[in-house]
Amino acid sequence: MIVAVASGKGGTGKTTVSASLASVWPSPLVAVDLDVEAPNLHLFLNPEISVQEPSYIEIPEIDDDRCTRCRACTDICQFKAIGIFGDVVMTFPEMCHGCGACWTICPEKAITSGKRELGQILIGRSGQTKFIMGRLRVGEAMSPPLIRNVKRHLNNGNGYADRDVIIDAPPGVSCPVINAVMDADVIVLVTEPTPFGLFDLALAQKAFAPLGKPMGVIINRADIGTRDVYDHCQQTGLTILAEIPFQRDIAEAYAQGQIIVDTIPALRPLFETLVARIKTLYDHQRPCKEVRYA
Ligand code: SF4
Ligand code: SF4
Repeated sequence: MIVAVASGKGGTGKTTVSASLASVWPSPLVAVDLDVEAPNLHLFLNPEISVQEPSYIEIPEIDDDRCTRCRACTDICQFKAIGIFGDVVMTFPEMCHGCGACWTICPEKAITSGKRELGQILIGRSGQTKFIMGRLRVGEAMSPPLIRNVKRHLNNGNGYADRDVIIDAPPGVSCPVINAVMDADVIVLVTEPTPFGLFDLALAQKAFAPLGKPMGVIINRADIGTRDVYDHCQQTGLTILAEIPFQRDIAEAYAQGQIIVDTIPALRPLFETLVARIKTLYDHQRPCKEVRYA
């Protein structure tokens, strides 16, 4: 089973939940940090990193002598990453999504694939849990290809096939998080009972509903704010999987980079129940209703 922990909004406690879920998960696990712009999961899990390797995107390299300026490549590129200006053919590597259409279509075989570094992939182990994370190069805008490269490690027969997977997904509702959750079996949304939490939860629900995956919600800092998040979940058929209380000792554990379920044993039953509810959600395969507002 692949569980993606996501949130429409940053700062809801998504990584805190991911780390505690990894701690209580009963079967062999891979913990994957796909929040590649600001990966934090390793700060909780403290993995021993055994492999650190660069991750690349393929980009076009043009042989100026072969190129006849036919414009087939500029016409097919959806991202304006190749242009012909007068007699000059230029590439814009930062805008290239590495789809390969240009070098596939070039009639003169004037384009070969080069590469551009996106960031790093780090692989290791935290106790019995295998760990993978992507870390985007500072200033790099193209995070989805790095996310896909990290996920390829899961599919490449690296001993992960018999393990459940917990993904700490990026916040938001745009391409990075869609790439992160699209292969998941269950999406767990972490929110808080505030107007901001509600607004961004509804956005996330709307973004993920077309994927047709079972979704549930964890309400963090559950005893502050309003009941609007609860009403919203009831109205849209979104299962509330757990409520994490607003407590000083939880905030203190978080502030010290500790896994809250390890520091505060009283939270363990809450997270064990959460695991059981995620599995039930997965077994029943009940996709959430499509949300038509927000
Ligand atoms: S498709 Fe090939 S030959 Fe045509 S403009 Fe592009 S690089 Fe040149
Ligand atoms: S690889 Fe795709 S995105 Fe990149 S320049 Fe070629 S056609 Fe455009």
